[in-house]
Amino acid sequence: MTLPLKDQFVLPEGMIYLDGNSLGPLPKAVNARLQAAVTDEWGQHLIKAWNVDDWMGQPMRVGNMVGRLIGAPEGSVTMGDTLSVKVYQALSATLEMRPDRKVILSDSGNFPSDLYMAQGLIAHLGKGHELRIVEPEDVMDALTDDVAVAMITQVDYRTGRLHDMASMTAKAHDVGAVMLWDLAHSAGALPVDVTTCGCEFAVGCTYKYLNGGPGAPAFIYARPDIVGDISPALSGWLGHDAPFAFEPDYRPAMGIERMRVGTPPVLQMTALETALAVWDNVDMDDLRAASVALCDQFIEEIEARCPDLTLVSPRDGTLRGSQVSFAFEHGYAAMQAVIAQGVIGDFRAPNIMRFGFTPLYIDAADVTGAVDVIANVMTNRLWDDPKFKQTSRVT
Ligand SMILES: *Cc1c(COP(=O)(O)O)cnc(C)c1O
Repeated sequence: MTLPLKDQFVLPEGMIYLDGNSLGPLPKAVNARLQAAVTDEWGQHLIKAWNVDDWMGQPMRVGNMVGRLIGAPEGSVTMGDTLSVKVYQALSATLEMRPDRKVILSDSGNFPSDLYMAQGLIAHLGKGHELRIVEPEDVMDALTDDVAVAMITQVDYRTGRLHDMASMTAKAHDVGAVMLWDLAHSAGALPVDVTTCGCEFAVGCTYKYLNGGPGAPAFIYARPDIVGDISPALSGWLGHDAPFAFEPDYRPAMGIERMRVGTPPVLQMTALETALAVWDNVDMDDLRAASVALCDQFIEEIEARCPDLTLVSPRDGTLRGSQVSFAFEHGYAAMQAVIAQGVIGDFRAPNIMRFGFTPLYIDAADVTGAVDVIANVMTNRLWDDPKFKQTSRVT
């Protein structure tokens, strides 16, 4: 199928949306599907819907759809909770796999929630684990034989810098460490193959490039050969082998279902399931080529017209995710001024203006249209207005 697939999305008139890396737009099919789920399934079937509409099987069914986008075999991915929770579950499992080691290795480009979850887990375990945070370019050298787990986010949320999953996983395994990938900015953004890279765990969210909607459930993958040995830290009833046996003692389900916790968010999951159908005929290599081309075009046009903006993303497209960031001292105000003119990006402290490029619904004309707006804001100092300097709660 040729990209873009604009007609499959609700894209507000007059808006150029370059923030699908934070919250993907609404796929058109979701509205009617959600209506039906509410009206027919919840409204009419009520409790029967767990069986007749297979709400119970939904986390695994949707997990398989996500699995196809990250190279995971059928039955190895499940859905639920939020990414922060899935990070906690995966991380605690990795520490149990390496009881003699105390180091969690991560990098300064990781999203803070992943680091916070590690800090909370360490404090809770009270076994003297250490969170070792190095610069992204130093991760390979920091993989030493005291590392229990490398917990790494493939794409840096601020700069878009990309880690190579295959070589980093191989190095982690060479030193006996477990590899945990966070694919928050990778799934749906570029080709990913967890099977070929051989990592033990992968997690990610689905409201960014997968367009599942605000609060859409997260995914978790565990390598099929190790999943049976995981003792889940969050041992909820839906991760039990027989939830409706109501046994007094926890007994984990056989496969990845043991990483389920409690009742899934059915309506959110339904929105996500519908959104994922968009990917049925998308070739990830085509998507990647289109993404790199859009980002290259954006960099070239911005640099030609906005000398005050400094590129902080890798210039080489093969080293970059599907976003481009520029640093500017007054980045917050500048982004507010750009947004006021219908081009939606976001701001990441302290000075980063971030733009996501999603070839599903962005094309070359959108890039030029966005650059026109940004150049106008920069050239005419439209950002230098008190109304753009008022900080909102969400940036
Ligand atoms: C977006 C993102 C999160 C967000 O976690 P939630 O629990 O879904 O709010 C966590 N980690 C990374 C790497 C992210 O990019």
